[in-house]
Amino acid sequence: MKVAVPTEIKNNEFRVAITPAGVHELVGNGHEVLVQAGAGLGSSITDEAYKAAGAKIVATAEEAWAAADVLLKVKEPIASEYKYFREGLVLFTYLHLAAEPELTKALVDAKVTGIAYETVQLPTRQLPLLAPMSEVAGRLAPILGANVMLKPNGGPGLLVPGVPGTHPAKVVVLGGGVAGTNAVQVAAGMGAEVTVLDTNLFRLRELDALYDGRIKTIASNSFEIEKACLEADMVIGSVLIPGAKAPKLVSNDLVKRMKPGSVLVDIAVDQGGCFADTHATTHAEPTFQVHNSLFYCVANMPGAVPNTSTYALTNATLPYLRSIANNGWHAALKADPSLRLGLNTHAGAVTNAPVAQATGLEY
Ligand code: NAD
Repeated sequence: MKVAVPTEIKNNEFRVAITPAGVHELVGNGHEVLVQAGAGLGSSITDEAYKAAGAKIVATAEEAWAAADVLLKVKEPIASEYKYFREGLVLFTYLHLAAEPELTKALVDAKVTGIAYETVQLPTRQLPLLAPMSEVAGRLAPILGANVMLKPNGGPGLLVPGVPGTHPAKVVVLGGGVAGTNAVQVAAGMGAEVTVLDTNLFRLRELDALYDGRIKTIASNSFEIEKACLEADMVIGSVLIPGAKAPKLVSNDLVKRMKPGSVLVDIAVDQGGCFADTHATTHAEPTFQVHNSLFYCVANMPGAVPNTSTYALTNATLPYLRSIANNGWHAALKADPSLRLGLNTHAGAVTNAPVAQATGLEY
């Protein structure tokens, strides 16, 4: 089978959908891998590294799309890529079709088989191809928050771990899921005094056992959130209610009463954010002020670390890709109900109920 990987052309997207290890694996399984020249450079992967792993480098995106049995990407295709759609093409990438009616229609009209990373779901309800990005965003959050705290960056001039004889920063993490757990890990590793709040007591028990008293775990409710925020130097929002907008857990009035110079990092911004004043920001202008606090609300945090993000994503996608390449997409999906949930479009129809509902297209 021919697997082709074009360069990502969405604004500020530096990830690439395959690594040399992935190329090596597919070629070893008897497949041909075509990579567009320069596709890996944003993640510090050279054409030579791909070639050494067995890939063929093609000069243009057109060649990659035209040759592909399976077209592998990171982000959803943008309008200038729709011309490459054709019947029989299998597209494996993040699609987010519920928010993209035009893209959905283009895929349906061209009869593309679209398999979306974000709807692949395990029987445990976990999302194996979204989790790596939550891990990245979670680990980044305390690092970026600590950076915002520096005086030259407009922060209060507080060093997160402190030094002997001074207080470390108090970091509050709202939501101890994938992103929150990773935020706790890095914040605790930096020497902060960490409190995590979650409505799921089982999750808090696991975190309590893991940290053996080194962090505080608190049942999440408005009383405890207020108490924790009023003491916090940094609040990291990482809650998720699957399929719903994030609950607004920190009001404007609460921010008004927080410590001057406190920093609020809203990882849940892509679900509307869990602070009342959250609005999406960019890596170019990541922060804004609310009362005497600074908000950091970048919607694609993993974009700041494309190198790590590329490897984290492809580690997760490769087993599914290998199965699609080895067995053909149909047999691969039949054998794996989790991957079956990834199918969003096929043979001129939408095959995912929420996408059909959101786009008004035939299911
Ligand atoms: P997850 O499902 O693993 O964890 C969410 C946690 O929130 C769960 O433990 C849940 O019990 C908890 N929760 C729900 N309501 C709560 C409440 N009222 N108080 C406290 N806890 C509550 O989800 P995740 O993978 O960690 O994702 C978290 C968020 O991060 C999502 O919105 C996701 O889209 C987002 N995310 C953002 C970026 C970015 O770049 N900004 C990147 C990746 C993920």
